Amino acid sequence: MRITEVESIAFTVPTDTRRTRWGYGERDGAERDTTTRILRIATDEGAEGYAVGGYGAYFPAPEPAVVDVLLKPLLLGEDPLDRERLWQWMTAHHGFTERMTSSVDMALWDLLGRLSGLPVYKLLGGYRDRVLAYCSTAPNLGRPEVYAEHALEAKERGYKAFKVHANIFWDPYKREPAPGKPAFPKEDIEICQAVREAVGDEMVLMHDPWGVYTLQESLWAGRELEKLGYYWLEQPMEERRMEAYVELTRALDIAILAPELEEGGPFTRSSWIRAGAADMGRMDVGLGGITATMKTVHLYEAFGQQCEIHVGGFGNLAVLGATTEETCEYYERGLTIPGVDRDATPPYLLAPCDPMDEEGYVHIPTGPGLGIELNWDYIDANRVEG
Ligand SMILES: [Mg+2]
Repeated sequence: MRITEVESIAFTVPTDTRRTRWGYGERDGAERDTTTRILRIATDEGAEGYAVGGYGAYFPAPEPAVVDVLLKPLLLGEDPLDRERLWQWMTAHHGFTERMTSSVDMALWDLLGRLSGLPVYKLLGGYRDRVLAYCSTAPNLGRPEVYAEHALEAKERGYKAFKVHANIFWDPYKREPAPGKPAFPKEDIEICQAVREAVGDEMVLMHDPWGVYTLQESLWAGRELEKLGYYWLEQPMEERRMEAYVELTRALDIAILAPELEEGGPFTRSSWIRAGAADMGRMDVGLGGITATMKTVHLYEAFGQQCEIHVGGFGNLAVLGATTEETCEYYERGLTIPGVDRDATPPYLLAPCDPMDEEGYVHIPTGPGLGIELNWDYIDANRVEG
């Protein structure tokens, strides 16, 4: 079997601007069209596989120009079942970004699943059919009371855990963008405190400042979160300063969760583990695909450390279905905004990616491949160039 087609399919999706602006400007709630893309890989024997963006998989598939210049020359004529060989090739090839590798790798896993009639998580080594989710807020939602009320709604919806993204590149007083420094750790902790008071002691809570704090701010905020019984402090600082993370992790009791955005997948994370730069690791399929994420998860498992999966989507769910709670405890379900329905199915899908039951568990898709059910009527009616 040989790969004969590699295609980037672009189409528009009406998007609530409250989702795309994240508070960096007006949240007017108007709908605007955004373009998303799907990668399709097909073979001479009719097998095909897809990678989609969206659902927290925060980037679309590669553009047609990238497909023509980079992907086709590498993939056409190759055996689509040689995923490891192709992953090694793309990873060693410096023209490939991790996001390109991710899309190709996910489409190849999807292809294998569709070909065999099995879900990818079973092919990876099925472990569980459902995973506990946490509600992950969008940043810059407003006053502490807004977060407290949102957390109560999440608890009523069934969530057992809730993660705060507070003031990120945003001045809560002037209500305008504040790129870079200063951060607002004091105001962020007021939000974290209001959430704890609203939901009570049993709900698991996390805080994610998205890398905007200094070391001193991280130390102070971490100690405050310890008093509030928070579970982890996520990516509080710029991740290229690993030594600051070593110092922070030594000084605090609360679990430090990082690195989230560092490139290099299992390679950089091995350095973080060796340095003791965090208590828990972080990884997602956007950083080199399912193949890179499984390598990373197994690395952390061998060291007896958690590796919490960043963002959601079909690829991350396949990984979570094939790993233990001990290593990968939660599914990140977000980013949530009060008044925006997180349970709605986007128009290009026939079934939702991450339906959550009333106990707070997201169920791993059980259809063949990654379980993506594409709505071709919608996609074909809304196709655009590139
Ligand atoms: Mg994060």
